Amino acid sequence: MFSGLPGNVVRLKDSEEKCYGASDLEGYAPEEECGAQATHRVQGETDSFGAEYEYLCTLCFRKDQARMKHQADTLTGICESCNKEQKLREMSYVRPWDEPSIVRHWCSSCCREEHKEIQKEADYHGW
Ligand SMILES: [Zn+2]
Ligand SMILES: [Zn+2]
Repeated sequence: MFSGLPGNVVRLKDSEEKCYGASDLEGYAPEEECGAQATHRVQGETDSFGAEYEYLCTLCFRKDQARMKHQADTLTGICESCNKEQKLREMSYVRPWDEPSIVRHWCSSCCREEHKEIQKEADYHGW
């Protein structure tokens, strides 16, 4: 069973975890941790060894989502499949069907190609 993908959100109920988010948001110094009760668990950096999780309260979660959206609209990344520069908004994290233990950051057209491949395999094997 592999863990999810970066950006996965789990809502927490009566969590013991404290919110440690917001440290990299504008206007917050790293030592100003929020410390409120965490209500959301957000999956961060993920590789074959596992995933890192961020615990956030509702307020910090909202800020975090806004920050991510802003980044997706303004920043670009390099697709790990075609090596082209793409808007982050156009990119998503995927687990290739032939290597599900790893996470790749791909542009939307490579993701579509991947889906086609899966479909072909599925037809071939009669899945
Ligand atoms: Zn918080
Ligand atoms: Zn690509």
